[in-house]
Amino acid sequence: MNVVFLGAPGAGKGTQAENVKDHFGLKHISSGDLLRESLKKETDLGLKAKAYMDRGDLVPDEIVFAMIQEKLPAKQGVLFDGFPRNLEQAKQLDQVFSNLEDKIDTVINLDVKEDLVVDRLIARGRKDDNPEVIKNRLDVYRKQTQPLCSYYETQGKLFTIDASESVEQVWDNIKVCLERKHG
Ligand code: AMP
Repeated sequence: MNVVFLGAPGAGKGTQAENVKDHFGLKHISSGDLLRESLKKETDLGLKAKAYMDRGDLVPDEIVFAMIQEKLPAKQGVLFDGFPRNLEQAKQLDQVFSNLEDKIDTVINLDVKEDLVVDRLIARGRKDDNPEVIKNRLDVYRKQTQPLCSYYETQGKLFTIDASESVEQVWDNIKVCLERKHG
């Protein structure tokens, strides 16, 4: 099974992705983690991405896509976290899977109110978790990423889960949803 996690920054995608990966044995692909690793190693792609990440803007699609494609295919199934972030990436991803005669099966949308997200991000304290950058990341999410909900809804793949509940409760709901769909 191949799963996508959608949700605003701070919705808990990373935390829940760890649970899903461990429980269902999927390969966890986080575009944010891949970008931060490249940045730490000072690779060409990482250095190109830096300014965008510092501002909270999306890194250009071709940079992100190059990193994602290196991780595919994965026999055990994939969990995407933080990717796709816009319609172009979603379409490209569908194309890649279709070339592999495979598909995205389920999209989990972790839904949470913005004020809660801001508190969570400030508590996390990553470099791009300061109020100005957070505001931009939320704007970018609203304008570019949220439209993916209807893209996947149309494909009949979208499940929305209330992510304002406790980590345990959210994980329970995700597990039920994936087990129902995939046995
Ligand atoms: P994240 O760890 O998912 O919050 O991502 C941190 C930052 O990495 C974002 O603010 C973007 O600058 C960049 N980024 C992560 N994933 C993507 C993506 N799929 N497309 C473009 N930029 C991304």
